[in-house]
Amino acid sequence: MRHQDTPIKTYSGFVPTIGLEIHCRLNAKSKLFCGCPNSYGDTPNTNVCPVCLGLPGALPRLNKTVVEKAMLFAFAVDGHVAEKSEFSRKQYFYPDLPKGYQITQFEYPYCLGGKLLVSNRLCVDLERVHIEEDAGKNIHLDDASAVDLNRAGSALIEIVTKPQIHSPEDAAATFRFVYDIVRAIGVCDGNLEEGSLRCDLNVSLAKEGATELGTRTEVKNLNSFRNLEKACNYEIMRHVDTLLSGEKIIQQTVGFDASTGKTFTQRLKEDSDDYRYFPDPDLNELEIDSAWKEETRAKLPMLPHEVERNLIEVDGVSSEYAGILKDKKSLYSLYIACRKNTNPVMPQKLLPELAKWLCTDIQKLSSQELDDGVEQNQLTLQTDLGSSKKCKNSWNISHICELLLQLNSGKISARAGKKVLARMWDTGQDPSIIIQEEGLLKQTDTGSILKIVKETLDAEQQATLDFLQGNQKSFGFLMGESMKRGRGSLDPQVLRRVLQEELDARNAAST
Ligand SMILES: [Zn+2]
Repeated sequence: MRHQDTPIKTYSGFVPTIGLEIHCRLNAKSKLFCGCPNSYGDTPNTNVCPVCLGLPGALPRLNKTVVEKAMLFAFAVDGHVAEKSEFSRKQYFYPDLPKGYQITQFEYPYCLGGKLLVSNRLCVDLERVHIEEDAGKNIHLDDASAVDLNRAGSALIEIVTKPQIHSPEDAAATFRFVYDIVRAIGVCDGNLEEGSLRCDLNVSLAKEGATELGTRTEVKNLNSFRNLEKACNYEIMRHVDTLLSGEKIIQQTVGFDASTGKTFTQRLKEDSDDYRYFPDPDLNELEIDSAWKEETRAKLPMLPHEVERNLIEVDGVSSEYAGILKDKKSLYSLYIACRKNTNPVMPQKLLPELAKWLCTDIQKLSSQELDDGVEQNQLTLQTDLGSSKKCKNSWNISHICELLLQLNSGKISARAGKKVLARMWDTGQDPSIIIQEEGLLKQTDTGSILKIVKETLDAEQQATLDFLQGNQKSFGFLMGESMKRGRGSLDPQVLRRVLQEELDARNAAST
């Protein structure tokens, strides 16, 4: 679904239509149907038992935590959680699937519908979300292949979108959106390299204006936003070339080789009939009553796009900074900590300024520290007000609030504020002490400003003369030079007045 005024990009007269199937490994402690640990990277074939090995007579038992995590996702995307759903067996043979079938939800998934509000102009509807178990992993060695079944039986949710996406960029943005959500609600670690989130993509092309979709191909197992975009682009261009040369697209499943940037055939057309699904006789229907639903729904935290909307609509933060805060968890927690601070209180009207300082100077200082190789994974918070100990690499919430108040009162300039901030970061000192020690308070005393103005005019005789002869531009230059002499601490309004008066006086004297 797309905003009416956004034009769809065409490729040599063809419109691509894209749907995504995203597999997300839930971060439950144990697997979907047994008590084996759901952990990555352990010694191969150690986290296994008769159930996940599919030994005869072993009985699966559904993990309640998994269902709750799956439900949280459904609520986050506004999907309909079914009161009754069913687990089925999907039959196929592969070395990493010792049972000979995968337990998944087929006819009756736990979640139907839902939508991904990717951006203002892109909303992608969901077909369904279902729970299923993961397979093991084949490891190909030089002279043999091995199987690690630690992953077999881990819980996944498969998120299936409707084919409503029309560009590789939007496909990547949609995958990214799901990635943000599952991490924000804490149901997946989001580790793309370890395959915690993998995306299949189906692409078809149709002539512009055609009502029917073309033959589709499916690209399997993409685990980065960039690869998804690249694979999508490649597949679209391959379809275009095939269609333009008068040939037909063959329905097939392809893989993507990131090193060549190309897709390659894996297997030809297969339908759901090939899998001979039937309800798993070992498992009851999954029943989710309204009490369980509501209890779980209450645990849903605020979602990234809601965070962004609140920042803009309630706090008045600019959309640019709201976007940054939404994406950077550590910066956002600093923001919230300052917003909640009680000593001193951060006034509502200063929140846009707070966001600006966080997203610019504070972020810059914090990341410089990262570049310097100092071990620090995220900004640390230090709320111990009045502590005199050196607290490098941390931000004191009360100090940030105090600095913002000083800036707002007009006692110090923005330039001085940057200086104070840098020293706060280095030493952990109270901003009012830094302001005092560095003499950064804005000078409003006419007498001392006049002294500086006089010094400036004496030193800049040419510019002074230029101004007296009618060159207005020199005024700005003389303002800047006076400011420099005053180390940026002069009150600009007072300075402007004093400078004008002094120039008038000199003009009168020279005529
Ligand atoms: Zn097991």
